[in-house]
Amino acid sequence: MFGSSLTLFRVFGIEIKVNLSWAFIALLIAWSLASGTFPDMHEGLAKATYWAMGILAVVGIFFSILLHELAHSLVALKHGIPMRGITLHLFGGAAEMEAEPTSARAEFLMAIAGPASSVAIGLILRLVLWASGLGGDDPAGILLRYLATLNFILAAFNMLPAFPLDGGRVLRAALWSRSGDRAAATRTAARIGGAIGFGIAGLGLLEILAGAFGGGLWLVLIGFFIRSAAQTAEIDLAARSVFTGHAVADYMTADLITVGPNMAVGDFLETVVYRSRHAAYPVVDGAGTARGLVQVGSLHRLPREDWATTPVLSIMDPASPETTVSPDRPAVDALEQMQRTGQGRLLVVADGKLVGLLTLKDLLETLSLRMQFDRPAK
Ligand SMILES: [Zn+2]
Repeated sequence: MFGSSLTLFRVFGIEIKVNLSWAFIALLIAWSLASGTFPDMHEGLAKATYWAMGILAVVGIFFSILLHELAHSLVALKHGIPMRGITLHLFGGAAEMEAEPTSARAEFLMAIAGPASSVAIGLILRLVLWASGLGGDDPAGILLRYLATLNFILAAFNMLPAFPLDGGRVLRAALWSRSGDRAAATRTAARIGGAIGFGIAGLGLLEILAGAFGGGLWLVLIGFFIRSAAQTAEIDLAARSVFTGHAVADYMTADLITVGPNMAVGDFLETVVYRSRHAAYPVVDGAGTARGLVQVGSLHRLPREDWATTPVLSIMDPASPETTVSPDRPAVDALEQMQRTGQGRLLVVADGKLVGLLTLKDLLETLSLRMQFDRPAK
């Protein structure tokens, strides 16, 4: 969602990754703690002490988020849901599941595990603070108090009933266990999530208008983050339920107009494009082997005087593992491949031979039709 990630280490076989935005955010947090928050909590310490506290606090925040996400992951693993990894990003963390929970109970336990662990960490830190007798003027005491509060806030924020936040997942589990209809529960939870995201962004906008620019901008960002996460979750889950059990072959177009690799671009335009008016054509040689895909748009890059002499071969996107898919692969995998590679069209290839074309547009149209006419799967 926010670009590239770096793998740090593994725990319980779960890959821990950090989004590159985190390095930037960590620096920003350390700075704002060292120059504002900690001096406000207690005046008169050395500048270097505030910075040391700021850096230790960032490490503490990192582990607080990590433990929160690990709690989700361990409960998920216990319920037989494989985990892809944990990514720490701009707004906290995300534990990536490879499958959705199969029961409302599992969903509830997985969702509640994160906030519950954050509350537990907060309580433990308060207990350590109390047992150690550290005062409000001691750097270690200030740090402990700050991290305890942070864990309570982490729990509270995540318990907002805004799917896909934890609270929204708890809400979905509740709706799901009442109605037995997961798809309907997801839709409701995601819509409430979207509305809450919108509300938070609106609140942020009001704050900006009232002059609190920093805090307001932060709320706007969080609001839009929640909103887009809710929308993505809704589309993603709908796609999963619609496409599950179907293979690429079910959605591909098999009846295709293809082009030979050696046809001149000018002839291609005159005899193929002007007649059939598609945006892209598979390039297939005499033996039926898929050679690539030629996009009509890429003609713009070729000077007009070269159209008569240049073969289609030299302007096509060649067939590669990124641009091809096998007809018996699950349709969901093909959709993921399109999302990952940014390809809107995949050549469907069996034993090197072209058997069809799968387009994102066709998948989305099928999705929209099925969502209108199919009863949601129970
Ligand atoms: Zn969580």
